[in-house]
Amino acid sequence: MKADPSLQHRLLDLQEADTREAQIAHRLATLPERAALDAITADLTALDAAIARARADAEGIGQELSAAEGEVEAVRTRAARNRARLDAGQGSAKDLQALTQDLESLAQRQHDLEEVELEVMERAEQAEAGLAEFEGARGPLVARQDGALAATGTATAQLEDERSQVAARRAGIAAEIPAALLALYEKIRATSGSGAAALRQRRCEGCHLELGASDLDRVARAAEDDVLRCEECRRILVRVNESGL
Ligand SMILES: [Zn+2]
Repeated sequence: MKADPSLQHRLLDLQEADTREAQIAHRLATLPERAALDAITADLTALDAAIARARADAEGIGQELSAAEGEVEAVRTRAARNRARLDAGQGSAKDLQALTQDLESLAQRQHDLEEVELEVMERAEQAEAGLAEFEGARGPLVARQDGALAATGTATAQLEDERSQVAARRAGIAAEIPAALLALYEKIRATSGSGAAALRQRRCEGCHLELGASDLDRVARAAEDDVLRCEECRRILVRVNESGL
């Protein structure tokens, strides 16, 4: 294949644009800003689950507390009624004795229930404090998520912007290159990742191998418009001023 040396040089510009596009695509796929955002979002999801659990716990203990308070209240009411009857002195001596005994056992029962109530109250306080702590952590985490979202958006927009510029530049270069040469370049690029490489200091910049004496001789004797290939990596080998021929 033959192509004007200036067009062969344009293949290097095309390769540079393709390399930059690949770098941008890789960068977009592995953005540290996105990784940070994903980590914060995962933390927030875990925190929301913890808040939901803590809220359910607190509600459950709140119901326990209401029940305990109700029981204490019921015992107090019954004790007050008995005391009123005793004070009124109504009923037989046997009745009054029974009331007195009942009052004693009610006092013990009230004491026991109040102990339970106190224990539940302490657990309710702990549960509410835990819930408040989780809820308090949410705001700062959401703020961090907003910041990470903005940083990801900015980084993505910058890279997308550069990608459009590179794509436009690449389209301009590709339009200059004859169809057959471009097709060869694309075919090699599809299998090797890059289609053309400069020969610099007797080294192919595609595979980084130094050309042997016979290959160098072949390259040196080739016509300027001959399209050459690296014998090692098969990329289009483009001669430049520093080829070392
Ligand atoms: Zn090579």
